Amino acid sequence: MLMYELLSKKKTGGILTRDEIDFMIAGYLDGTIPDYQMSAMLMAIYFQGMSADETLYLTQAMASSGQMLDLSDIGGVKVDKHSSGGVGDKTSLVLAPIMAACGLKIAKMSGRGLGHTGGTIDKLGSIPGFRTDISITEFKQNIERIGMALMGQTAELAPADKLLYALRDVTATVDHIALIASSIMSKKLAAGADVLVLDVKCGSGAFMQQEADAYALATEMVQIGNGAGKKTIALVTDMDQPLGMAVGNALELKEALHMLGGKGPADLWTVCLAIMEQMLVGSGQCATESAAKSQIEKVVANGLALQKMAEFVAAQGGDADYVYHPEKLPAAAIISPVLSQESAYISRIACDEVGRTSLILGGGRHTKDDVIDAAVGVVLAKKVGERVARGEVLAYVHGNDEAKANEARERLLSAYSFSDEPPQPPVLIKKVFSAPRDVVL
Ligand code: URA
Repeated sequence: MLMYELLSKKKTGGILTRDEIDFMIAGYLDGTIPDYQMSAMLMAIYFQGMSADETLYLTQAMASSGQMLDLSDIGGVKVDKHSSGGVGDKTSLVLAPIMAACGLKIAKMSGRGLGHTGGTIDKLGSIPGFRTDISITEFKQNIERIGMALMGQTAELAPADKLLYALRDVTATVDHIALIASSIMSKKLAAGADVLVLDVKCGSGAFMQQEADAYALATEMVQIGNGAGKKTIALVTDMDQPLGMAVGNALELKEALHMLGGKGPADLWTVCLAIMEQMLVGSGQCATESAAKSQIEKVVANGLALQKMAEFVAAQGGDADYVYHPEKLPAAAIISPVLSQESAYISRIACDEVGRTSLILGGGRHTKDDVIDAAVGVVLAKKVGERVARGEVLAYVHGNDEAKANEARERLLSAYSFSDEPPQPPVLIKKVFSAPRDVVL
């Protein structure tokens, strides 16, 4: 087989076979196919697209290019949840312990924060001692014993995706739905869960800003997952303003812990509930969404969800006392209000700007080696649709540096837009893409 022939085929709109795609990925990984040929292939795919089968074959070839986690020796249905990334998105911290309390086995591989979006690992890192660099053996033991475990993505997971992503980054081929879907799903397939529930964020704080793109990505990922024999469900949810009130590592963890105790912002709960219902129904644990909801409410009300969180934190080296006393989490020295200059309705909050504000305060990384400040961030006081009077507090900046806090206040103020008329309320759950009925566990 010659890469030249595959390039010719794809350039003219041909459909690559599984063998051809396997040959291409293996060759790129072992260096026999050079960057310039792979770059040409990416550009050909960008313009000619890929069929559903080609996308599945590419995903599977990338997934099996490295270590494939085998979780089959753990009893029960193993479920993984993935978010495409957003601002204030602490859903994993809320739903993983609730799902474990409901009897699911949550096997979660997470990334660190990326750009203006935060990562679950960084948020949990606010608890002293908490480790995500656990071994696969420990990961599996914790899932079996507690019902949940979280580990950082290992370098051995889907190495072909890592190489291809770096190449896409410099050849302007990142923003292609099938390439994005196969990249995300290659890591999910390699991580070994039986059921995948994907939260595709849509809006100004998300990777996918337009609904049509988010729906297309959700459709492709569900097709890939189910094609690979994993029951896969995707929800497209709102990210046109931050989720909940808190943005920043310890601040988000604190909000998630309150939510596990039954108190917290309604929008955060609505999104968590919708994802959890799909997890319970998708895994066959509950027959209907309403049965799932009752079970979820029960484990929150009786304290089992919070107890699971404490067990999980302790098992991964963290001080479990923080789960019951979130006030012990790192706190910023400066807490400074941002005041409204208008008396009006809030029509929009530029979500990416809020994320960047947290980044400027020190809550995220500009380079991969930056050390983050767990305490800093933003707490919104008002969200879209609420009416404010001039001089009322819109949000609070939590900072540890006066100059950065001043800059953050200005940015935050400019992130808010106002109108005299109340805006349309945001639709939080835009669409659910379920697995076809013939995908059974
Ligand atoms: N996240 C990924 O893992 N891959 C992409 O291509 C885009 C986002």
